[in-house]
Amino acid sequence: MSDSRIPVAILGATGAVGQTFIRLLDGHPWFRVAEVAASERSAGKSYAEATRWIEGNMPTDVAALRVLPCDVASVKSAVVFSAMDAAVAGEMEPAFARAGRFVLSNAKNFRMDADVPLVIPEVNASHLALIARQRRERGWNGAIVTNANCASTTAAVAMAPLHERFGITKVFMMTMQAVSGAGYPGVPTLDILGNVIPYIGDEEPKIEREMQKMLGRLDGDAVISAPFVVSAHANRVPVENGHTVCLSLAFETKPTVAQALAAIKEWTGDPIVRGLPSAPAMPIRYRDEPDRPQPRRDVMEGRGMGTVVGRLREDPILHLKLVAMSHNTIRGAAGCSILNAEVLVATGAIARGGTQ
Ligand code: NAP
Repeated sequence: MSDSRIPVAILGATGAVGQTFIRLLDGHPWFRVAEVAASERSAGKSYAEATRWIEGNMPTDVAALRVLPCDVASVKSAVVFSAMDAAVAGEMEPAFARAGRFVLSNAKNFRMDADVPLVIPEVNASHLALIARQRRERGWNGAIVTNANCASTTAAVAMAPLHERFGITKVFMMTMQAVSGAGYPGVPTLDILGNVIPYIGDEEPKIEREMQKMLGRLDGDAVISAPFVVSAHANRVPVENGHTVCLSLAFETKPTVAQALAAIKEWTGDPIVRGLPSAPAMPIRYRDEPDRPQPRRDVMEGRGMGTVVGRLREDPILHLKLVAMSHNTIRGAAGCSILNAEVLVATGAIARGGTQ
């Protein structure tokens, strides 16, 4: 029987995020992993030979694929999910867009470019309209669509309903980030077991600038960044998956705890996402227990696409404080890219035949 699903390629398929793409796309109703690509260390081997698989069983159809080099001559798919190292994404992703491919990127390189959408679909799917400007200005037929740093994603989803209703002016936040956020093999065991590392290279600057873009307003073909200021402390902790973020927020109009709680519980996000294959039933699950969210208990909320929020209360310095947690390689990386691609299929920007 012929498979009518859209063939896609995964660039950086052997890494932590690349493997998450492969797990999430196994049995996906719209997309089929047709090609896998990685560095020259892996190219030419079978995917099974090239990859130290981290979680569960490797899908057998992907295990047999030959790993390709990450270049436009070798990789043919029109839709390309990129989980490449930032050191190479800067050169390779534009080459794919120039060759007419749709690149859904997890790398940091282009997130802040004025013509590149930085999207969490429940929060700012409308920013995908920047693709038209990007094509016009860069003269290419393809596109680069990015998703955010994983800790920024956790915080931005939790903040979205509050910013929409009450206008956030200040954010003070502290992250406790899982080891899988550092890729594979990631942080050496002796550095992280029984320890906390109060530094993650380049993480705080990313967090301090990305959330204003995502929670910004689309005006014509430009995003006007949200006018709040962010101070972030980023920490690596001995947790496998799931970034936890403690947030203190100030608002234009201070809501009561009850008003803020209602805003969070009622928020369903952009309706464009509803019913898409990877969308969670609700983007935020609020937990009333005083000791939640916890990565061990909550990380797979909404098949890893949910953001779990709790501990909303008065803040004696700013206005309110809360805790948010989500899965860094699913919600904060591969799952968000796939949901972006699903929106692009649902709106016709990616044709069901795989071209655009
Ligand atoms: P990773 O485990 O270190 O994987 C990196 C991948 O990039 C591997 O597949 C590697 O292939 C490939 N690669 C390295 N050098 C290459 C080259 N010269 N040409 C082509 N491919 C090359 O890293 P990761 O955690 O999956 O992260 C991937 C990207 O997603 C990064 O840009 C990261 O910042 C971003 N991100 C990660 C997370 C997270 O939670 N982990 C969240 C959001 C965003 P080989 O195996 O052949 O070396």
